[in-house]
Amino acid sequence: MTLDLIDSIQGESGVAHTIVTNVCEGVADCVDACPVACIHPGPGKNTVGTDWYWIDFSTCIDCGICLQVCPVEGAIVPEERPELQKTPG
Ligand code: SF4
Ligand code: SF4
Repeated sequence: MTLDLIDSIQGESGVAHTIVTNVCEGVADCVDACPVACIHPGPGKNTVGTDWYWIDFSTCIDCGICLQVCPVEGAIVPEERPELQKTPG
């Protein structure tokens, strides 16, 4: 499948969600709620000293459930923003 085709299937809402690494408090409510299990723990701590999680953009289906369950305002944004989200490796 081409990227163009994937984009057209995903439609208007078709971008991944992003966990803002240094706003996330590592509560992990999002992890169990994600229907495709694409939220993973990051290593170490973020700049505010808490655990942090990251979303695998290539697996995220943009369902928005993580954003609904996250208790931390601003920790998840409904856009693909790789500059805001650290990923391991
Ligand atoms: S994004 Fe929200 S629910 Fe998920 S680990 Fe971070 S603070 Fe917790
Ligand atoms: S938008 Fe949906 S698929 Fe993407 S990380 Fe959040 S819960 Fe998982």
